[in-house]
Amino acid sequence: MYRGRFAPSPTGPLHLGGAATALFCAAAARRAGGALVLRVEDLDPARVVPGAEDAILDDLTWLGIRFDEGPREGGAHAPYRQSERASSYEAAIAALAARGLTYLCDCSRAEIARASSAPHAGEEGPRYPGTCRGEGMRARPFRRPPAVRIAIPRGAVGRFVDVLRGPLEEDVDASVGDFVLRRSDGAASYQLAVVVDDLAMGITDIVRGADLTSSAARQALLAELLGGELPRVLHVPLLVSERGERLAKRSRGVPVRDHREVAGADRDPRTLVAALARAYGHTVPRSGSFDDLVAAFDPRALPGGPVCVTEILEALA
Ligand code: GLU
Repeated sequence: MYRGRFAPSPTGPLHLGGAATALFCAAAARRAGGALVLRVEDLDPARVVPGAEDAILDDLTWLGIRFDEGPREGGAHAPYRQSERASSYEAAIAALAARGLTYLCDCSRAEIARASSAPHAGEEGPRYPGTCRGEGMRARPFRRPPAVRIAIPRGAVGRFVDVLRGPLEEDVDASVGDFVLRRSDGAASYQLAVVVDDLAMGITDIVRGADLTSSAARQALLAELLGGELPRVLHVPLLVSERGERLAKRSRGVPVRDHREVAGADRDPRTLVAALARAYGHTVPRSGSFDDLVAAFDPRALPGGPVCVTEILEALA
């Protein structure tokens, strides 16, 4: 039984790239005759924007996407907000800690950059060189509130199945090193929360933005250490500006809301659904609805790289 999930972070309005990802995520689930879960990833209180969750859910409903489980629908795996699931994350950390697979770390970003041989490697900063690894979980005089890191077992690799590229593997120890499970502010890390939730919610398939491609191997490793496996993953190419840059979520024409409301009234969503589907390689009529996208859905039709927003804005003008 296919179980998919869409997992927005309520850090701002739903933008066109998020809408495209949500549409393909939902189309994949419908096409497979499966269930679709909505999970709100509101782990980071500093980044959560009041009202954003409701606004995103309203925009998804307007697009024609229905969820089988979620904060509005309820379901067997409630709660569907990460801010309400802290005990699951702590239980996972405790289980890993009991096997000696965690340690406390009070290194600052600057210290990690100085200690690393390749200080600017990767978008997420340098590989953690393992400075605190020998200390384990023992309390010691900390210079700042410590984070909890995973102690990656020697030789362990992250293995997962990418829908388009087949089985992949990555030496996570070599690429990012021992990554954070619980941040120094006490919140579970994105990597840990996603894995714990996907396992607990019985997710079989992840469809999400290509900005998370590099997270899959870490999540696969973690899933395996927690006794499960990473769902199959499909990464939807990002929507970018004319210059190939990440879209600023709030610039004109980028929020879904800009296309939804005219003079206070809701428009027909089909023009937008069809414009997104077509820009992402799917042949649907210009006034195609979400159901037309479900009928046309084929992961192999997705473009191999980023999609430029200009074409979509022109189709909508
Ligand atoms: N919450 C993440 C985001 O909005 C998505 C996480 C995931 O799909 O794994 O970018």
